[in-house]
Amino acid sequence: MSDHALVCRLRTLIAVEPGLGYRALHARLKEDPEFPNVGLKRVQSALQQAREVQDDLAGPVDQQQQHQQQQDQLGSPPIDTGGQEGLAEEWHLQLPGAPTAQELQGWRCRGKHFEIKGSCLTLAVIPGRGKGYLAAKSIKKGDILLIETAFCSSTLGPSEFIDMAIQCNRAEDAAFFRDEVMSLTCGASQHHALEDILQNNVYQCSRDCEYSALFVATARFNHACCPNAFVDSTRALAVVRALGDISEGEEVLTSYVPVSDVLEARQSKLATKGFLCACSRCQEEALASPCFLVPCRCGNFQFSMQDDSLPLQECVGCGSPYDRAKSVLNFAEVQQANEFMRTPAAAQSDTRHLVQNLSPLRDLLAVGAQDGAPPANTESIQLLNSLANCHRFCAVHLTGQHHTTAMGEFFACKAQLMHAYELIHGRNTTQRDLSYLINLHRLLNDELAQPSHAILELWKQKLLDACMLQFGQPLLPPGVSADLSK
Ligand SMILES: [Zn+2]
Ligand SMILES: [Zn+2]
Repeated sequence: MSDHALVCRLRTLIAVEPGLGYRALHARLKEDPEFPNVGLKRVQSALQQAREVQDDLAGPVDQQQQHQQQQDQLGSPPIDTGGQEGLAEEWHLQLPGAPTAQELQGWRCRGKHFEIKGSCLTLAVIPGRGKGYLAAKSIKKGDILLIETAFCSSTLGPSEFIDMAIQCNRAEDAAFFRDEVMSLTCGASQHHALEDILQNNVYQCSRDCEYSALFVATARFNHACCPNAFVDSTRALAVVRALGDISEGEEVLTSYVPVSDVLEARQSKLATKGFLCACSRCQEEALASPCFLVPCRCGNFQFSMQDDSLPLQECVGCGSPYDRAKSVLNFAEVQQANEFMRTPAAAQSDTRHLVQNLSPLRDLLAVGAQDGAPPANTESIQLLNSLANCHRFCAVHLTGQHHTTAMGEFFACKAQLMHAYELIHGRNTTQRDLSYLINLHRLLNDELAQPSHAILELWKQKLLDACMLQFGQPLLPPGVSADLSK
């Protein structure tokens, strides 16, 4: 074993996982058939050389590396982790349903990058959409479809794609890079340059929110705003799960954008990837935007507040009338209230007065409100959020029965809000965006919550169901949000 080989291997390891310390790297190398007996001291000095080479290529070191270098120069780290440091740092290799670290090591030795579980997917030419995956057999909700190791990854930021391009050019598996990475689509760009390919195929990692990564086989899923599969990923690994039952021959689709975005927001994000989405949801929403639907009191029909809809409408189920002009006026009141809440005057107002002013508007957003305002609208969600915050502020400053009442109102507002939030995910997918799940998690962990709040049980169940479906575990992974992982 030459020092050169050791330095090369270390360079690859730190390029993929820049945060690894020398102890973790030592543990990693000892698992490698090429370096079974490497000593800690040799790893330390080779690491210094590897970093010097990397700095020459990548420019100034970031703070984390600087810190690590200082630590390395000092010898052992200030806190002795008893050799457990490596284990703690490998959390991003431990996704539910994924192979063990040892099995993944075997993948790497054999040049294997991904596995399609039970041959459940076939890559096929989809008319008008390039290549995509079809279900090769019938798939059950929650099934794991694909497991893949990251080809490259980086912390999010301005040098993200440059970092990844450097990793690609240094990749051990040059054949996979040439044949698979370079054949990925490059969106709007005509140049087919590596950086365009990366821009078009790299996504933020679902449970490692400060990182993005390239998963080559996973990148070949086509997009739909009503996806039937979800990509759960860290900087190192991706696991793709079915969000519902999928019949043989049906296309398996993931969403490249948050599904709770409205039509215009989704379309403009997708335009940067060079296409105009024409999925069933986009077609449906172009005809009748869910942002302007007002539910009838019977729960079986929705009126439309959209400009081109009839001024007077009648429910086909229960015959209730709807006056669009009145509905528009009610919605304008919601918008005005939101505008006021953004002014300094609102911040100086007595919270009890704000509650008095906002509460009647909340009733306009309830199911069954006569000529109400559309609930699945960002303005409506904003109003409910402001009112909920006012109630919570009151609860903090009150005691006894007044406190209990204010908290009851807070949860009632949030219940209405979370329902509206669900509606904006569209009705043809079970995917729930991370922002929604983080909101549920925060509500469940509200320090003022009492077991008597019945809504908590429902939310607990919703969070559990969504986490099992998307992450294969009952709890929200800490890495989905920076403030949850602290
Ligand atoms: Zn779409
Ligand atoms: Zn009705």
